[in-house]
Amino acid sequence: MDTKSNCMNLVITGNPGVGKHTTTDLFVKQDSSYQIIDINKFAIEGGFGNKVEDGFEVNTIEMKDEIKKKVSDKSIIVGHLAPYVLDDSDIDLAIVLRKNPYDLIDIYKKRDYQESKIKQNAGSEVLGVIANDAIASFGKEKTFEIDTTTKTPERIVEEINGIIKNKEGGDIIDWLTIIEERNEFGRFFDY
Ligand code: ADP
Ligand code: MG
Repeated sequence: MDTKSNCMNLVITGNPGVGKHTTTDLFVKQDSSYQIIDINKFAIEGGFGNKVEDGFEVNTIEMKDEIKKKVSDKSIIVGHLAPYVLDDSDIDLAIVLRKNPYDLIDIYKKRDYQESKIKQNAGSEVLGVIANDAIASFGKEKTFEIDTTTKTPERIVEEINGIIKNKEGGDIIDWLTIIEERNEFGRFFDY
């Protein structure tokens, strides 16, 4: 198929729990010509950062030059740090997966994240921090958001292929209004 023979570097980013790895695995199952570059794995294996209490804190400055070398002409680069270690010249398209922050909280609880880590990541989703930073790093034309909340992995991959093909698509996401209506800012932010 035409869309699948295009060489390209595709970023899959978004907050923890939005479905990056599930989506990436299915995408590559359908088109195994892509090399997967997992930013967190790359950081841990390369020692770009430090072990901390609840995981690994990546030093994005240290790994920037190294990950650029690894990106080939057909890669799917997955990780929430993508906007901080790559830029416009490295990639063709960035997909920011989004998920309703209330659903994210449930996923974080299942992952046994601490309360502070839950608020930090769900709050980041509310504000669209990674989406904004992806636009800042990769530009508006290359950055597309997909709301994964009620979509199957198959549907999400289909939408990504549509965006690759047509350079258009994606969703407009606004969680702030929902939280404002419910008057539940306290669930996401300390103040
Ligand atoms: P990430 O890599 O962004 O942290 P994961 O792919 O690990 O996210 O998915 C987080 C959780 O959500 C997992 O339990 C996964 O099984 C589930 N999940 C992922 N994608 C979907 C989807 N499209 N629909 C329903 N559940 C999903
Ligand atoms: Mg993951």
